[in-house]
Amino acid sequence: MAEYDTMKFACLVEKGKAEVRERPLGPIGECDVVIKQLACNICTTDYTQWQGHREHQGYPMAGGHEGSGVVVAVGPEVKSIHVGDFVAHSTTGCGQCRACAVGDYYNCENTLGIAATTEDGYRGGQFGFANYARIHARACYKMDPTLDPAEAGFLEPVATATHAVETLAVHPGETVVVIGGGTMGLVNAQVARAYGARVIVSELQPHKLEKAKELGLEVIDSKNSDPVEKTLEMTDGKGADSIIVAVGLTVAYDQALKMVKNKDGKIMFFASGHPEPELHVSPNSIHYRRLQLLGSMNATQADYAIAAKLINNRLVNVKALIDPVRYPLSRIQEAFAAADGNKYRVSVTLQEG
Ligand SMILES: [Zn+2]
Ligand SMILES: [Zn+2]
Repeated sequence: MAEYDTMKFACLVEKGKAEVRERPLGPIGECDVVIKQLACNICTTDYTQWQGHREHQGYPMAGGHEGSGVVVAVGPEVKSIHVGDFVAHSTTGCGQCRACAVGDYYNCENTLGIAATTEDGYRGGQFGFANYARIHARACYKMDPTLDPAEAGFLEPVATATHAVETLAVHPGETVVVIGGGTMGLVNAQVARAYGARVIVSELQPHKLEKAKELGLEVIDSKNSDPVEKTLEMTDGKGADSIIVAVGLTVAYDQALKMVKNKDGKIMFFASGHPEPELHVSPNSIHYRRLQLLGSMNATQADYAIAAKLINNRLVNVKALIDPVRYPLSRIQEAFAAADGNKYRVSVTLQEG
């Protein structure tokens, strides 16, 4: 009998209601790693599920994917991860299909991710808010053990921002405007800066502007000034090379189209919007201006590898993006209620007593 034979985890049982349950961890596969999880942060995806925006996916929903912890057991074929290692992780694909072959585990042809149902009837498949996790070794990334576990839990968000910045092909010295200073806006901003860009964050809420400044980023107060005029003023009338739109709002897309440089500008659609926003763009202007409208979601294993280095080498400050109040697993319901869009990441601690 090992301490990790049974896992204790949180799941959503209906809209706005989370509870803690138990289930067997299951047999440890040859290439599996058992992680004693220390923290898991509540992602916007988890929060919107709790709010009931994705009810079509069904219940019970065992989400959570921004976790980290210490390895307590490994399968006989695991070579690069050892007991005692501090790790964070990505999702796991089958490892055999064409998507997995290029590290795109999110688009694995053989696992259905959040649409999958486990044999015991759980949706979501990720079981992130759990005291123990069993994960394939290829999805584990070693993290600096001196990091706060909630910081290491930023591996997935930083990887998705890395995917966006890589897709934009940000070059040193370029100017990037990030619209939206929430968690993902400020993660994107810092990743773009790590790639050598000058980054300006446009935001209307005072506490988010303060946070961006605290991180050493230039800001535009879009409540008290016109963000388009301001961008042009700050770029000698030229506009920015790239815009990362980190809020799903029509007004933000309207601004982005005017903030970006006249020719060869790039706009990244990083966020989804609910209800779905409208996009006002002239096809001719895409042609004449050689505009590049780009989308990004999830991340590949190559992005994860970069993200682990960005966090481990403190090239992005994720500590500043963690809410000071931590919730133990037993108070998961309060944790979800606290994780609204005005807060930065709310972190759930997973080892009690
Ligand atoms: Zn996430
Ligand atoms: Zn696959």
